[in-house]
Parts: sequence; C-alpha cells; structure tokens
Amino acid sequence: MGRAPGRVNLIGEHTDYNAGLCLPLALSYATTVRATVRVDRAVSVRSAQVDEPWTGTLDDVGPGQVEGWASYAVGVLWALRESGWEVPGVDLEVDSTVPMGAGLSSSAALECAVAVAVADLLDHDLTPELRRTLVEACRRAESEVAGAPTGGLDQTVSLLASPGSALLIDFRDGSTRDVPLGWDDAGLRLLVVDTRVSHALVDGGYAARRADCEAATAALGLPSLREATLADLDRVEHPRERGRARHVVTENARVEEAVVAIGELDWTRLGTLMTASHVSLRDDFEVSCHELDLVVDTALQAGALGARMTGGGFGGSAIALVPAERADAVARAVDLAFVAAGLGAVHHLDAVPSGPAGIVA
Ligand code: ADP
Ligand code: MG
Repeated sequence: MGRAPGRVNLIGEHTDYNAGLCLPLALSYATTVRATVRVDRAVSVRSAQVDEPWTGTLDDVGPGQVEGWASYAVGVLWALRESGWEVPGVDLEVDSTVPMGAGLSSSAALECAVAVAVADLLDHDLTPELRRTLVEACRRAESEVAGAPTGGLDQTVSLLASPGSALLIDFRDGSTRDVPLGWDDAGLRLLVVDTRVSHALVDGGYAARRADCEAATAALGLPSLREATLADLDRVEHPRERGRARHVVTENARVEEAVVAIGELDWTRLGTLMTASHVSLRDDFEVSCHELDLVVDTALQAGALGARMTGGGFGGSAIALVPAERADAVARAVDLAFVAAGLGAVHHLDAVPSGPAGIVA
C-alpha cells in the first residue's frame, strides 16, 4: 500500500512561484492507496472519504478527461505514462486522515500515495532520484489533469521530507535541505487550527497575487523577485504591487532567518518570525481573513511564541508554536474566541514533523 503525508508550511508563503524559499514539514496525517494490478486496461478508483467512485480506462485519465476528486488520483497514472512508464490497468482504493481542503495538502497526499503505490507495483525502488520523478508526475497531475496550478511545494515535501525535520526548498534551483527541528526537547508543540472556512474567489485571489508579483518583477526588470532587495522596491510605482513584492522579499529573508533560529534553538526568534510572516501576509499580500487573524491574535494572547496563517490564505489553517503546557489553554482560547465572534467550530490538529511517502503493509 502507498502512503503519503499531508504537510504544513512553517514559513515561506507565496514564495514558491517567485523562485523563493519555503520551509514546510510533513505531517503524521496521511493518505493510503492500495493498488491492485489488472490484466486489462481498466482503471477504477474509490475513496473512503468521497462516495463517488470513478471507472474508465488508461485512455481516459488525461487532461480534460476526468472531473472531480478522481482527477487527482488517475491524473498521476497519466503523468507517469507521460514520463515513459508502462502503467498497467489498476484498481485504486483510497483512505485518508488528512482533512480535505484545509490547506494541509490532502491533494498532494493523494497524488503521492498513488505514485508510490504504482512505483511499488512496477518494482521501482524509491531512490532519491525516483522520488524526484514522482514529484514532477504528481505536480503535473494536479496542474494539468485536476486543473489546479501548483508550484510543486506540496508534492516535494510529501515525497522528500525526513522525520523530525522541516524541508528547506529553494525554488530558484529546486534544491532541498533537511532542517532538523529540536523544539520537542524545548517542550514546544506546533498546533494547527483548521478554521473550516474557505472564502469565495480563492482562485481569482491567487491568480491576482501571481499577476501582481509578475508586474512588480517586470517593473524591476529582474528575472524574479528572488533577486530583488528592499531598496529596489521604491522603483515599483504601483503601491499594491509594491506591497506584494515587499512581502515576497521580506518573506524570503524570514525563511533564511528561521533556518538560523532553528539551528540555534532560538524558539523565541522563530516565533517572532512566524508572527511577522503573518503580518506581512495580512497587510502587504492581503491573503488573510477574519478567521485566520482571530486564530493568530488569540493564540498569541494565550501564550503562543508565534502564530501565522499557513497555505494560500482566504481560509484554511493557521499554526501556532506553543509551550506544551499551554497547548490546551491556547486551543480553548481559540474555541471561545470563535464562539464569541459567532463563528463555527474549528478543528485542532497537531503538527508532528514526520517522514515521507513510502510503502506500508
Ligand atoms: P488541500 O490539498 O489543502 O486539502 P485542495 O483543494 O488542494 O485542498 O485538495 C482537496 C481536494 O483533493 C478534495 O476536494 C478532493 O477532490 C481531493 N482529495 C483529497 N483527498 C481525498 C480523499 N481522501 N478522497 C477523495 N478525494 C480527495
Ligand atoms: Mg492541495
């Protein structure tokens, strides 16, 4: 059976499509896929989470051919065939503990679990090189078959993470590096709060942010915002585009600082950087929302060292770095704040830095 984790991004948001830096970690929540080989070219996929099985053949799994959730799963078969693999007809059975649509990347967990299950069927060893092939196939499945443009952050961490570490990803050259997280020994935990809201116009908002970043990059005459400095930004005339670029430039610097802080076990500094990331996403990038701000403000008041929205924004999840003995109090404070604000209940999850996709019994 293939198994692949969801992820949460510790810091480095909206930097992936700007050739920037991010620092996600794989979660203990994961998706499993049991793949059974067939003698014909038929494909079927069913999920314990969604009561809509899909059936077709290997000729029906490409771009424009599959609607709905199944596109994330069977799109991987198409992408692996595109990369030259002889993928047979298969029956796929999906199950998951990753909440869907919470910004914890249930989509990449599904793709990557299919990919490793198929790799196993074909007796491929999960070498580092093979994992990178799978990252690209899963990214293509999501972009080209499911139709959700993605830079590959989610697939990269799901397939390449190391237990106990975050993964520093540099989107300028695609390189990755493990960043061991020692906050356990300091008595800290990373809490995830799924706000269970997803505000309308998410896709439009995302596309508009990318367009603003491209406009700022063009105004500066640089290959990407990775090359920009704070001083450069005065040359971006449009105030909104300047704010977007300022977020990206300062966020890349915060990721670099966060890696240093983690190395020095300076958790106060890491917390401060997380909160600064949130403020930048809220004010300069304008992708936060009332619910995410409420989680962050409440967690900080209740004793978190730092807190921020995580993922694309407009809803989804926030994270908070908290002393273990304050974890319950922080969670309860968030619950009460949501009741007081007349909002629906949140979901609390724990972010335990976990290992990558693999084969399980
Ligand atoms: P996220 O990746 O943050 O959870 P997305 O919108 O990118 O949010 O992906 C969520 C979608 O992925 C779901 O709406 C569904 O189509 C698909 N999906 C993920 N996990 C499963 C699953 N276990 N069963 C069926 N579909 C799933
Ligand atoms: Mg996703």
